[in-house]
Amino acid sequence: MNRIPSKCPICEGKVESGKTTFTVDLTSGIVVVRNVPAFVCTQCGEEWIDDPTSVKLEAIAARAKEQNAQIEVMAMG
Ligand SMILES: [Zn+2]
Repeated sequence: MNRIPSKCPICEGKVESGKTTFTVDLTSGIVVVRNVPAFVCTQCGEEWIDDPTSVKLEAIAARAKEQNAQIEVMAMG
């Protein structure tokens, strides 16, 4: 998937590691994952999630879909 840039390709701001909230809208419901490790542009707020984290998020979304959850809210880490 996407590589983490050392500086923001949009505004050339500094990219630092931080946390974000990941939301995925399944047709069956919505999954919200808080506390997701991410890289965030300090200037414009653009976010990047690395591959291992993306894989975990996909697994979480797949599980929620199986359970037919309307709204699933959880935290990572
Ligand atoms: Zn930026």
